[in-house]
Amino acid sequence: MRRGAISLRARYVFPVEGPPIADGVVAIEGGRIEWVGPARERAADLNLGNMAIIPGLVNAHTHLELSRMPGDVAPAPGSSQDEVAWLREVTLRRISGEWAPSYAGNVERNLAAAIEAGTTLVADITTAGMSWGAIAAAPTRAVVFAEVIGLKRHRGLQTSGEAWKWLGTIDHEGQVAANARPGLSPHAPYSTAGWLYHNAAGSRLPLTTHLAEMPEELRLLEHRDGPLRAFLEEIGAWDDEWDPIGPRPADYIRKGELRDADWLVAHGTYIQPSDFWQFRPQASSNGRRVAVAFCPRTNARFGHHAHPYRALLEKGAIVCLGTDSLASSPTLSVLDEMRFLHASDDSLSGELILTMGTLFGAWALRAETAAGSLRPGKSADLAVVKLPDRDEADPHMLLLESDLPVVATMFEGDFVAGSWQGI
Ligand SMILES: [Zn+2]
Repeated sequence: MRRGAISLRARYVFPVEGPPIADGVVAIEGGRIEWVGPARERAADLNLGNMAIIPGLVNAHTHLELSRMPGDVAPAPGSSQDEVAWLREVTLRRISGEWAPSYAGNVERNLAAAIEAGTTLVADITTAGMSWGAIAAAPTRAVVFAEVIGLKRHRGLQTSGEAWKWLGTIDHEGQVAANARPGLSPHAPYSTAGWLYHNAAGSRLPLTTHLAEMPEELRLLEHRDGPLRAFLEEIGAWDDEWDPIGPRPADYIRKGELRDADWLVAHGTYIQPSDFWQFRPQASSNGRRVAVAFCPRTNARFGHHAHPYRALLEKGAIVCLGTDSLASSPTLSVLDEMRFLHASDDSLSGELILTMGTLFGAWALRAETAAGSLRPGKSADLAVVKLPDRDEADPHMLLLESDLPVVATMFEGDFVAGSWQGI
């Protein structure tokens, strides 16, 4: 076989744009997908056997710098954890600085784990652009969002100053890595002053924010009280002068220039139904993109009410999948999130779940022309998943009703993790 050209055969190929192909082949040349079709039409260099070839997975919401909290025990199935109490613990540890020395090591380790789990596109939220170097050098596609946070002016100035300083070091012509793009992440309405949202929107960069994540946030925005205020007062972050952008979380993506920016909304669990229509791509005549990154296992951990993904999808909104960080999720595997989602809602089609974990995330990150499906011309970013020895009427169930792992990840035509590395 010629260097840079390889064709892979597997029991199933899931192009995502198009139905699964039994006994399929993906031909790759020069880092791009050259052909996808049945093995009877084309011989392959390498027969992977009882495997599925799927597009590389897209993790639309994570924080690679965070690790599992010491002593953390996930709540037993059926029970849940108070999210404000969890947030308090995470925040106190961050403020104390006890975690900071381990951030860089966490990024390296978590990025490797994410790639091993089949991820080829990641939306990472990081302090002052900290994860950029490791991500830009890694075999993956990414948008790296620097976090800005602070209700009090001095705190907001500090975090946005650090974020803009980072942008200044990378964001000029020729310096932006080929596969990584910078963005900004105003943390959340309850933690981040309105002017930080407006400044971020003025940057013209891709943006992400935690929005409508918990009922306590709605209460704070509407009444300025409740458990979140008590927590913010306790850590000295509350600002008596604080004036929310609006009483509804959706106001944070639609007021003034906020409505011109791309927003990847993390969670969005408590977006009011009357605001759902605003998440339809057609609602943005100016070409901006709004999508929701749903993290099924984190959502379940905190006992939130059912996420409105179905109602959003029915309205035409793009709902993609994220793992959130290891501080709330057991792994950084999008396949694990897909399997969890299927187990908790088997009325959602396997085809749709796979699309949420791949193409929808690519669209949300403006990478769908390069990634997110197996289509000739796109980058050869893919994952190889071991399949069980049984048949299913719907082959998606071979992926979703299984705990067999991703065995290899390919990025731009090279195996970057797993069994065939070095081919
Ligand atoms: Zn998050």
